[in-house]
Amino acid sequence: MNSKTSVPEYFDVIIVGAGAAGLTAAIYTSRRALKTLIISKDVGGQAALTTEIENYPGVGLVDGFDLMNRFLADAKKFGAILKSEEAKKIEKDGGDFIITTNSNQYRAAAIILAFGLTPRDLGVPGEEELKGRGVSYCATCDGPLFKEKNVAVIGGGNSALDAAEYLSRIAKKVYLIHRRDKFRGDEILVDRVKKISNIEILYNTNIARIKGNNKVEAIELVDTNNQPLKDLSVDGLFVEIGHIAKTEWVGDLVEFDDHKQIKTNKNCETKTPGIFAAGDVTDIEYKQIIISGGEGAKAALQAYKYLQQTKGIKGTSIDWGTAKK
Ligand code: NAP
Repeated sequence: MNSKTSVPEYFDVIIVGAGAAGLTAAIYTSRRALKTLIISKDVGGQAALTTEIENYPGVGLVDGFDLMNRFLADAKKFGAILKSEEAKKIEKDGGDFIITTNSNQYRAAAIILAFGLTPRDLGVPGEEELKGRGVSYCATCDGPLFKEKNVAVIGGGNSALDAAEYLSRIAKKVYLIHRRDKFRGDEILVDRVKKISNIEILYNTNIARIKGNNKVEAIELVDTNNQPLKDLSVDGLFVEIGHIAKTEWVGDLVEFDDHKQIKTNKNCETKTPGIFAAGDVTDIEYKQIIISGGEGAKAALQAYKYLQQTKGIKGTSIDWGTAKK
């Protein structure tokens, strides 16, 4: 076993994150016989929190948690190892990298950063105190606690629509609160949500405060000019207002855009040779499972090419289109 005092175990590739991008990267690197470690706090990332995925080609309607577990099973089948740890630091060490986690250190010749995004806080009074006491950022995880209760969802993108639809099957009533008069999510989902009888949509509305003594009891609503509307009695509030990149720990080995997302070129390379990035944590515009998977595959193939060039790893081809013995 590794410890910070012993010699860090060596891997050809360490992938940080086990969402669609990280797991796909692991499938590709382990199929190239690269010794692959995945470090992740959880499995499946945002996709695993989506109950009904219907835009992942070829599989019809699928539960996100199930889909991501299939990704994981494939990665393990080809030899990737998963450690449930939190990556805290990356340092260069000669031609390699040392990754320090909350409990271990590992050495790798190449790194793929694919740790996704983190749900954004609403930032209103009451939120911090009532987190886990009715304020939730994951409908799939916490929804079942609100059977036959009244809940609210805030947000206007696919995540909020998805959460409202899912919760409508559990809760008595779902208020969907959006700050504008038009949703940002897919029209097909918007149409479906509008037809659900126990969902009430409140447009042009914001939440000013979450009230409750030890658990959520009500939310204070305001209009877009911050004028008071009314209090809504609810037992739970699901915050579904997008995500932020928590990338500070990577330090200056990569560059960031204005949203702290990792800048990559079209081959998933960062500014440091040997460090690649893929999926939602990068500056790619579209945050979709199929796209993250594709970017993960690309990062893996590029890492393999890098290792062939720098470490003399023997292999056949990068891809059928660019085969070189
Ligand atoms: P998003 O698309 O960025 O939407 C965030 C929503 O929250 C927006 O409607 C935004 O309002 C609102 N918002 C942001 N800050 C707010 C605040 N402080 N107070 C109130 N409202 C606030 O995020 P997302 O819904 O999490 O989706 C992220 C990505 O994942 C998207 O690309 C989405 O398509 C994808 N996704 C796809 C699926 C699927 O395909 N089934 C499911 C989930 C997510 P404005 O509209 O006014 O900006």
